[in-house]
Amino acid sequence: MTRLKGYGGKVLRVDLTHRTYRAEELDPSLAKAFIGGRGLNAYRLYWEVPPGVDPLGPENKLMIATGPLVGFPHGLGSRLNVTSRSPLTGLLGDSNAGTHFSEEMKFAGYDQIIIEGRSERPVYLYITESGVEFMDAEGLWGFTVSQTHEAIRHELGDQRVQVGAVGPAAENLVKFAGVFFNVYRAAGRTGMGTVLASKNVKAIAVRGDGYIEAENVDELIKVIDEMLRRIYENPQYWPRRIMGTSRVLMAGQRLGFLPGRHFQDPVVDYAYDVSGERLAREYNVKVRACSAGCALPCARFFMIKRGPLAGLMGEGPEYEPLGGFTVRVGNRDLDRALKIILKVADYGMDAITTSEVIAWLMELRQRGEITDEEAGVKLEWGNPDTIEELVDMIAYRRGIGKVLAEGVKRASEMLNRGKDIAFHVKGLEMIQADPRALKGYGLGFAVASRGADHLRSEPFVEVEDDPELGKKMFGEPEAAMRLGVKGKGKLINYFEDLNAIVDSFESCKNTAENMLILDFDMAARAYTAITGIHVTESEMREAGMRIVNIERAYLVREGVRRSHDRLPKRFLEEPLRSGPAKGHVIELDVMLDEYYDVRGWTRDGVPRRSTLLRLGLKEVAMDLEARGIKLED
Ligand code: SF4
Repeated sequence: MTRLKGYGGKVLRVDLTHRTYRAEELDPSLAKAFIGGRGLNAYRLYWEVPPGVDPLGPENKLMIATGPLVGFPHGLGSRLNVTSRSPLTGLLGDSNAGTHFSEEMKFAGYDQIIIEGRSERPVYLYITESGVEFMDAEGLWGFTVSQTHEAIRHELGDQRVQVGAVGPAAENLVKFAGVFFNVYRAAGRTGMGTVLASKNVKAIAVRGDGYIEAENVDELIKVIDEMLRRIYENPQYWPRRIMGTSRVLMAGQRLGFLPGRHFQDPVVDYAYDVSGERLAREYNVKVRACSAGCALPCARFFMIKRGPLAGLMGEGPEYEPLGGFTVRVGNRDLDRALKIILKVADYGMDAITTSEVIAWLMELRQRGEITDEEAGVKLEWGNPDTIEELVDMIAYRRGIGKVLAEGVKRASEMLNRGKDIAFHVKGLEMIQADPRALKGYGLGFAVASRGADHLRSEPFVEVEDDPELGKKMFGEPEAAMRLGVKGKGKLINYFEDLNAIVDSFESCKNTAENMLILDFDMAARAYTAITGIHVTESEMREAGMRIVNIERAYLVREGVRRSHDRLPKRFLEEPLRSGPAKGHVIELDVMLDEYYDVRGWTRDGVPRRSTLLRLGLKEVAMDLEARGIKLED
């Protein structure tokens, strides 16, 4: 098979049970159909991880994939996707991180690494162009994420080797542990670190010395020049560069979508005190890019300069951990929040899920459904000692931490309490944004293939509140109005398809999507220049739809239907009590109908046969039907 330009060209299969590996050629037709990264992983997950597989058993597989833009100096950032069956949701697990690991694995010649089986003893994998070494990790077991990175770099005598590691939470099978790259860059969601640890793998280290070629270098330079110009001219460039996503906290206050005290307070009187603006003024000491191909270095380092925590330093925080460990749990103390955020990352846990289970427990206490004695801690909104103690208890599964370590859905089932305030969709906890004030986002959370998640769609244009824009893009003024309902099905279809492409190119949404740099046309031009395979704008959109549909087919095969595309009751029935969106609930069913119709799915959320055939997913349609799932035309 001829190696496709722009790709590493190989898929690395690692069999932990037998301590063997083999490099397979990447099939160019598969690369064209699913682009790379998330798309390739979704394809493998569908075909190689059948229903019924125990997420923490040796039959589950974990895939890491990079994309066709990675390795070129394009300005959009380089990322990777980690995919597996999720131990948290029991469904599609997938998480994305910005990291130099992505470039390094491609320079080693690999577009995708597939990890199978289970090692008898703890190991870490050392991957280079020459193959895989199974390194003894007995001595690393119990190490935190940062200790693991340091120890591996020291042992390999290479400060530039790229490492993805798990922390003690994953070893303790906390269901929402992530894989952490370059210490701070988390593939945090859906428990991908838990899967890795269940296979007795503490870390993966990779080093590559190869290079990547493009078919039409002159055209690629033109495309890159245009992308860079669009990034630098974007009015969002400097705010994003200075504050990264931490700037969202004040936007949440302005628009009334903060998750204050577990989504009871959409605005709070201490927003500035815990904001990205305050961090930028008083704490931040430098910025950096999380990957080599990024023109928007938005990753910040902070240092606490005074008080009892003076001298504490770290990277970030992004909005999700920041909002999670301040407003969601009612905490006004920024210094303590920063310390807790670092601890959560060093234990290797997903900050969003961790903040949800803690906030959920606090609301249970508020409702009088649990006592401090039963919880083993003084449950008080905003008490940083309580929050920190709960983080320790979860990571090491102590006391009530054993229950919280299962995620909010299972925790509410185990205690048989607070199911109505367990804020998740399909088992994945909701992010730090209240969908009653952002209705397109709400629809996105309900239908996202990995559960309550904004990054599958990220329909940021609705925040513009610009009816003209809505009309221009989707023929519906309300599509670009955050409290509007009509046109949201079209909005989410469009941005889901686009983000499937961005995730499969493995570019960063901060630039590629949020600044609308890598639209379908630009993606088609870049792909054509890199690979020499001519792809049109509509073919690129179709590739995005194909990825969304194969992920949905995976869910449908697992029994997911419309009844699973639900938001928790609070958002559907309890009007917001304050802020600019006061009085609003989310009208989910109307939006869902439109979404399914535009997608070419039935009103029960099942892709129609004609939709799958049109997207070249005939085998998927046949597989579903062979399993007794009736597809409508
Ligand atoms: S924009 Fe920020 S998060 Fe994205 S690749 Fe660049 S530094 Fe990383």
